[in-house]
Amino acid sequence: MTTISRIDREPARGRKPAARLSTAPDRNCPLCPRLAAFREAARVREPDWFNSPVPSFGDPDARLLIVGLAPGMQGANRTGRPFTGDFAGDLLYATLLEYGFAKGVYQARPDDGLTLVDCRISNAVRCVPPQNKPLPIEINTCRQFLSATIAAMPKLRAIVALGRIAHDSMLKVLALRAAAAPFSHGAVHQAGAIRLYDSYHCSRYNTNTRVLTPQMFRGVFAKVKADLNS
Ligand code: SF4
Repeated sequence: MTTISRIDREPARGRKPAARLSTAPDRNCPLCPRLAAFREAARVREPDWFNSPVPSFGDPDARLLIVGLAPGMQGANRTGRPFTGDFAGDLLYATLLEYGFAKGVYQARPDDGLTLVDCRISNAVRCVPPQNKPLPIEINTCRQFLSATIAAMPKLRAIVALGRIAHDSMLKVLALRAAAAPFSHGAVHQAGAIRLYDSYHCSRYNTNTRVLTPQMFRGVFAKVKADLNS
């Protein structure tokens, strides 16, 4: 485990507090022109889908935050709830239910009544990107909403980064040096009072190729649960 830095929650003495950033972008957020155009095209093609920046799901007072990459076209972009409606959500929500971070029954739709317990889910990039591949500038631009989301979680103790892109973006939010906190499945990096847990993304591709097995995924959440309970 690496111990390096901490997230700034309070301004240093004598320094003016920074203007509070929004935790949620406008539904027509124009900051990434490529993604805004992609979103507009999806609205024309599928007018009944959500087709907007996907908000975080769960209580801001949670101690655990899960950070994914970006909404999937047929998943969160369609339904409006992170990881809801595609394969990645099947594994994620089953695992959260198993470890007590969710209750109810996951039915792959936002009105299924499922609730998160001491847990919140967000994404490094809020809008669906073509081929699930956001550009570096889009990841950098959308980080302001991730940073604001984290700053607005006063009890946050654990962050699970799903995949290398989420991990890299989290390093910047937490001011951790990349060389000292390399991505690796199962790795844990300390940033002040917050622990960052790395996991391979629970995508269909990763599970089909056995890069990530359900058992490996459960191992990450078992560790988070044990640490939060210790
Ligand atoms: S990805 Fe984020 S910053 Fe870019 S347009 Fe969507 S909400 Fe705005």
